Amino acid sequence: MSSGSTSTSTDAASRLLEAWSGRLAIDHHCHPLFPWPRDVGARQLRAVFTEAVDPEILDQHMPALAAYRDAIRRLAKALDCEATEEAVLQARSKSDPATHANRLLQQTATEMLLLDSGYTGGQPFSLEEHAREIGIPQREVVRLETLAERYISSAGSPSDWLGAVRSGLREAVEGGAVGVKTISAYRAGLALRPIGADELSAAFGELQARAGSGGSKRIAGEALCYSLLADAAEEIARLGVPLQVHCGFGDNDEDLAKSNPLGLRPLLVEPRYEGLRLVLLHCYPFHREAAYLCSVYRHAYMDLSLTLPLAGLDGQRAMRETLGLCPWTKVLYASDASRLPEIYFVAAAVHREALAGAFGEFVDRAMLSFDEAVAAGEQVLAANARRVYNL
Ligand SMILES: [Zn+2]
Repeated sequence: MSSGSTSTSTDAASRLLEAWSGRLAIDHHCHPLFPWPRDVGARQLRAVFTEAVDPEILDQHMPALAAYRDAIRRLAKALDCEATEEAVLQARSKSDPATHANRLLQQTATEMLLLDSGYTGGQPFSLEEHAREIGIPQREVVRLETLAERYISSAGSPSDWLGAVRSGLREAVEGGAVGVKTISAYRAGLALRPIGADELSAAFGELQARAGSGGSKRIAGEALCYSLLADAAEEIARLGVPLQVHCGFGDNDEDLAKSNPLGLRPLLVEPRYEGLRLVLLHCYPFHREAAYLCSVYRHAYMDLSLTLPLAGLDGQRAMRETLGLCPWTKVLYASDASRLPEIYFVAAAVHREALAGAFGEFVDRAMLSFDEAVAAGEQVLAANARRVYNL
């Protein structure tokens, strides 16, 4: 009995994958590749499949991560080599890096990349270079905190600064940016609260003094980040573009305990943000909280980028859990890939399989017809992003 239901499930899932194979996806959250590196070693390859930067994790423990082993297996198949890390690295080193990257990216069946250029771990291609090197159309998503850092030194007061950020956002959108992204989760958290004028003024004074004496302009702490987000979100609502919010796991400089998306509720309910579309990125392990927000608030959307493929089988389960409460009209497709084409390739395959697994189960349980499941998956792959980003 159980083997019978397993084979049915595999059958519906694989039929869905086949039905979607000609459908191009919109990757609504990803980052530029690194300029073609000459030699990619094991450590560099492993680094794109984890949020860890600790060399001991990369050297000793990554080979013991099932999701990474699976990535190697998939890459080996694509590169037609033995399923070992060594063989994969050797196979990639044999071809011209631009050809290799475009070949892998072509297999992701992506029609458009929405690129967040704010990746800070190294020196990726600029957006112009990326457009030249990669044969997939792209659009920009502008990173709020990076943009806001530009106006720190010239501002006469915190309200001056926030005003400059507003006009910077207007310019970015007029210049073609299709959305804005905040990394408040890294810098302060997402437990939004009102910040008093005195608290903001003190924090801003400190930041300006540090920047003025040649120190870092990095915006961090609740006073600065929450004030910036609260003010910018009004402008973003007016501009009619969505605000992407990093939620859940990510770089190791964030406190995961503070990156639960439930803290974003003010942005979804306060009248001053009327119409603001909020896109919750990654979400894991808070994807159920995110799904709840999407289920009750008109303008909340979510994805499982990064969760797929970093969390392995748990990523597949997260897709099922997400589609429990969250209507599929509110789930977006994304890879959160960066740096190396290998992660683009693996993330795309795993994402499509997770969708097929979840919708295949709906078909098996007669909750949806096969055709309904095909159409639902197509919405996730591209139609939802087209609508949310006005593409
Ligand atoms: Zn990202």
